[in-house]
Amino acid sequence: MNYKSLGLVNTREMFAKAIKGGYAIPAFNFNNMEQLQAIITASSELKSPVILQVSKGARNYANPILLEYMAQGAVEFAKSLGCNHPEIVLHLDHGDSFELCKSCVDMGFSSVMIDGSSLPYDENVALTKKVVEYAHQYDVTVEGELGVLAGVEDEVSAEESHYTKPEEVQDFVSKTGVDSLAISIGTSHGAYKFKPEQCTRDPKTGRLVPPPLAFDVLDEIMVKLPGFPIVLHGSSSVPQEYVDIINANGGKLPDAVGIPEEQLRKAAASAVCKINIDSDSRLAFTAAVRKVFTDKPGEFDPRKYCGPARDEMTKMYKHKILNVLGSDNKLANLD
Ligand SMILES: [Zn+2]
Repeated sequence: MNYKSLGLVNTREMFAKAIKGGYAIPAFNFNNMEQLQAIITASSELKSPVILQVSKGARNYANPILLEYMAQGAVEFAKSLGCNHPEIVLHLDHGDSFELCKSCVDMGFSSVMIDGSSLPYDENVALTKKVVEYAHQYDVTVEGELGVLAGVEDEVSAEESHYTKPEEVQDFVSKTGVDSLAISIGTSHGAYKFKPEQCTRDPKTGRLVPPPLAFDVLDEIMVKLPGFPIVLHGSSSVPQEYVDIINANGGKLPDAVGIPEEQLRKAAASAVCKINIDSDSRLAFTAAVRKVFTDKPGEFDPRKYCGPARDEMTKMYKHKILNVLGSDNKLANLD
């Protein structure tokens, strides 16, 4: 099934508009109904375009067939919330093979990422080009990646980060024909983005302060690729209040640390037009569920703990749209 028949859109126009307007499109990962409800509620009420992002693991978790219809349902749900012209993308996060990307293109995705960043440069170019040639036949947009992010995210993990080399980006984009490029400038996957020894400590709170993002590398990339859509992965902020609630209610997340929101705001104002946020919704969900279990140990109706988790995620997504990404009221048709 082609994504257009599901009511989805690709990323091309929304990225062009976001770069001109100095904001970024939220790419929120989801695995289940409650996360999807929260994402669509937040983006529809705030009239924001949105990217529903699914990793290979999440696609298998949800089931690929069910997922197509969940995406179609998301479009209809957005309309029922008064968002008559929603701009919703279904995007594969970290595709690791041509076959997986093809399967997603064939089953309703409007955008795919092929992540060849761990391959030698020439192999990354060849694999990415093959995916672009297939996807573009169906007007599906493609994200490639250069540089390596540290951290762990589903099947993707790396010990150390390697910044994107600005001298490679022009060649990569022209040889592959990708529509957007994920870069590495110091963001990281997961809730433990930095080791304590990479950070300083705030003397007042005793909390870890992560090293700043490499904006000089971003600036160089923007000079090499003027107006080209840039993507940041691993951009959760790991809100301390969620970590505290989790730890106060039987959890154990010592020294979890994310990317400060003011740095993401600065990135969103540049050519960065897609910012990936996954861990923050996992933390919001887990904090809310743990709190219910502490406060009401007799509760066993999933709606009574998944409901509060959904509300907390909705609040978090709205905060990101309004205060970090600036994508509210940016639909092409606000009716
Ligand atoms: Zn990622």
